[in-house]
Amino acid sequence: MNARPIPTRTQMFWRGTTRACPPCGRRRLTRRWLVMPEHCPQCGFKFERAPGHNVGAIGVSTVVTFGLLIITAVVGVAVTFPDVPFLPIAAISVAVAIIVPIAIHPTAKLFWIALDLTLDPLRPDEAPGLGIERREDLEDHR
Ligand SMILES: [Zn+2]
Repeated sequence: MNARPIPTRTQMFWRGTTRACPPCGRRRLTRRWLVMPEHCPQCGFKFERAPGHNVGAIGVSTVVTFGLLIITAVVGVAVTFPDVPFLPIAAISVAVAIIVPIAIHPTAKLFWIALDLTLDPLRPDEAPGLGIERREDLEDHR
């Protein structure tokens, strides 16, 4: 018997990209900006699915930050060409490199979990609050 509706992969991906718990959809998961609980308080899903799982979130954060650094440099040079002011562009780039990873930390982490769940589907025992008892229950909802 299922206590809650079983989410599809698409639902879990959407929830993760919008900073909700992928299996149950609970929002406001972070108590403080940089600190996430180990488990979802609603469904019990463990956010670090395996040791070292959070490295993927750092990868997401790095890709976004470097993308914004490239955009900052290209726009800075394009707007000011031919008299490119190196120091202001460098200062803005340093600010981007410091602020962006902190600003997107919870989003990057939940996005990574959502992406991981599309590649390595939820197992019945991972979210006890959903009441999923058999793998077949999940396979019917993909
Ligand atoms: Zn949850």
